[in-house]
Amino acid sequence: MAKAIRKRCGYGCVICGKPIYEYHHINGYRKETGHIEMEITLLCDGCHRKERGGLISRDDVVRSDANPINRTNGRSAPDQVWYAQGPVRIHIGTNTIHANYFGDDGVTILLLVLDGRPVLRLREEDGIWLLSARISDAWNRPLVQIHENELVYLVEETDITFVGGVLTVGPGSHPMLRIKFRPPDLFIQEAVFVWNGILVMISEKKGLHRINKDLVISGLQTDFQVVYNFGRDPANRGGFFRLGVPTRFSPVELEGQVREIPESMFPLEDISIAERFDILDEPSS
Ligand SMILES: [Zn+2]
Repeated sequence: MAKAIRKRCGYGCVICGKPIYEYHHINGYRKETGHIEMEITLLCDGCHRKERGGLISRDDVVRSDANPINRTNGRSAPDQVWYAQGPVRIHIGTNTIHANYFGDDGVTILLLVLDGRPVLRLREEDGIWLLSARISDAWNRPLVQIHENELVYLVEETDITFVGGVLTVGPGSHPMLRIKFRPPDLFIQEAVFVWNGILVMISEKKGLHRINKDLVISGLQTDFQVVYNFGRDPANRGGFFRLGVPTRFSPVELEGQVREIPESMFPLEDISIAERFDILDEPSS
């Protein structure tokens, strides 16, 4: 059902076209009827907030749902972005990944995998690329999750802006995630990924770097379908850049000092409770 809704709405907020969105019940959700496809539309975080605050009326939503801006404008306007019918280049800092459209449904590019868990992923559906990203804290608790372009989890106070095709999550000076959409290019400009004490930072200047070992990965190009695979991978996937991570950041901070501990001492049992919140593993139907 999600797939049909995405398609109908033009893979973006029906009002402003923003590519990261939430599913919204036009008439409110009713338990008796359940989810009815035609009553669900896509609204971005900003438009959703305006709708709740009465700045966008239900009629506006209905009108836009009938004529989603991305369907009307195609991909011409700079803020209405969708990635369709062709290869895309994903820029992770200074690294470039060429994702090819193979003409069949379901190509998945795992951009970053930490301990077997994809935290940055691109999946192709009917020629449209869908982005998933998981930003957690040191205890594996989710701060922001984007699941196939849907904003599924965001801690209350997190700021999210979309200006000139740039999505920024968190404070502008130190964003948790900053993505620039410029089809056919997608720029992961800033990000901080942490999972099981593996810390990966992405910046425009440095590329992809791990503070753990001060490793910098910069200026590389690939078309692998598993790109960066760090830590232990139960699925035994390889990767363009495969790296074990024998020391981890302890989630317990000692006097403000970030401490590294051996992988075997990482308190997995204490933090595994956070995994219950996680819904990013399976593609939605
Ligand atoms: Zn919107």
